[in-house]
Amino acid sequence: MTTNPLDAESQSPAFPIESYNLPMTTSTAHRRLWIETVGCQMNVLDSELVVAALRRQGWQLTTSPAEADAVFYNTCSVRQHAEDKIWSALGRVRQEKQARPGLIVGVLGCMAQKDQELIRTRAPWVDLVVGPGQLHRVPGIVEEILAGGPPRIEVSLDRTAGSRDAVTKSFESYDPDRDPTMRPTPFQAFIRTQTGCDKFCAFCVVPRVRGPEQARPPAAILAEATKLVADGCREITLIGQTVNSYKWHDGGKTTRLADLLHDLNSIDGLDRIKFVTNYPRDMTPELIGAVRDLPKVCQYLHVPAQHGSDAVLLRMKRGYTIGEYLEMHARVSEELPRAAVTSDFIVGFCGETDAEFQTSVDLIDRLQFKNSFIFKYSPRPGTKAFDRQPDDVPEEVKKERHRILLDTQTKASLAGNLPFIGTRQTVLVEGLSSRDEKRAVDPGPDGSAQLTGRTSCDRIVVFDAPMRLVGRLVDVVIDAAGAWSLSGTVADGLADAVPLPLATDGACGTGGCDGPGTVHQIAPRPER
Ligand code: SAH
Repeated sequence: MTTNPLDAESQSPAFPIESYNLPMTTSTAHRRLWIETVGCQMNVLDSELVVAALRRQGWQLTTSPAEADAVFYNTCSVRQHAEDKIWSALGRVRQEKQARPGLIVGVLGCMAQKDQELIRTRAPWVDLVVGPGQLHRVPGIVEEILAGGPPRIEVSLDRTAGSRDAVTKSFESYDPDRDPTMRPTPFQAFIRTQTGCDKFCAFCVVPRVRGPEQARPPAAILAEATKLVADGCREITLIGQTVNSYKWHDGGKTTRLADLLHDLNSIDGLDRIKFVTNYPRDMTPELIGAVRDLPKVCQYLHVPAQHGSDAVLLRMKRGYTIGEYLEMHARVSEELPRAAVTSDFIVGFCGETDAEFQTSVDLIDRLQFKNSFIFKYSPRPGTKAFDRQPDDVPEEVKKERHRILLDTQTKASLAGNLPFIGTRQTVLVEGLSSRDEKRAVDPGPDGSAQLTGRTSCDRIVVFDAPMRLVGRLVDVVIDAAGAWSLSGTVADGLADAVPLPLATDGACGTGGCDGPGTVHQIAPRPER
């Protein structure tokens, strides 16, 4: 069965990063860590930072939990499915812990914050439970446990457990120095602009588990970006639960996302800037203008609509009407005709009727999103919907509506991709395509393989090219289009070029040998 990348329900929510290819540390300790990350980009970044901190303490990543001295799960609570996956994993790791009592088992992230003691009650073999606002404590706790200390639960205050100030202080943003070797692609990085969320959509557990919204100072964001670019990063994705709500007050001055984009755009060596996820009402003319005017800012806006019906949006407490969403979309289309707009939808929310569901189908038909992530409603304890609205749409109906909406989006995605055939697109080359990754193709540093990358409007492009193009911007002429991706041929013979140091005649022009991939000679394409 092939997995449809837009089918959020069938997608594995895990982004295991245990397969990073890490250089050996100089430490002699060589303790081995295995970590599985479930959920959103915030969690991917948190895992990167926790792993980097532990690596500085002599830990290395391993590809197998059976070989690990510590097994960590960085968890997600947005849907029950993501939690079930972790409960099953904890069941499996129990035997490992029985066989090797010294194994450290850790639950990090949103489930840790949400379930706290319940995790140790149901799985007493867990040694540390650390919420997203306490991740800076992980290295210290691990040392204490290694020294024979007791199991630890470190979480932030519940949203109602104190003053806003006290709760806010208990969620500390975790932003230590970055380490490029910690990322699967060192030329791409997430940067946090804010933590937490104050939108309180009726279905969503994020404000509870990630705490109050707190912006990071603009200077810290810029300094982090500058350092990342100096270390070789070419694409930065700003992340926040509602990234376009970013606001920082300093004296009389307010900095918003559009201002951050202006400053980031002037960093030399940076090629691309993206930002996710957007809240429809905060898609201001200034922000749309910044995307239009700043060449490094990608033509890609993820602005979840969640539903097509005003009545459902009201029950969801989304804070806007479909009329307002359409007005925002029209402004984007007018100012940014090349931009891709993407969305999230929830089907089967409390009380959703057939007629209400049909409005979501109609919205996708009308707006033709580049893609949409489509989720079946999952009631979350601690949300307003869980407390006050019955989860009354039967599972079978949710499934059927999910299928219908996905079909609708698939048609829209294909229709949106077809006009790209014959065009030339600049693509940031990310690595092996999933096909060649599955086949474990190892083309070596310069061998040809099927590679994948993305256009500025976030379309996936696959093409045959040498591995050394990974991390570079190349032009690709699009030959074919499917709903989920485009395929093409690298333009200008670049795929056939070999770096001068590898060329047989050894000709090395002045200034041409200062690094791999800077100057190329054309050589015949090897037979494949
Ligand atoms: N604020 C972030 C993270 C929200 S979770 C963002 O907007 O991306 C990502 C998506 O999951 C949401 O947009 C919503 O479509 C979906 N989601 C959130 N809570 C859900 C729930 N209880 N059931 C089903 N889907 C949910």
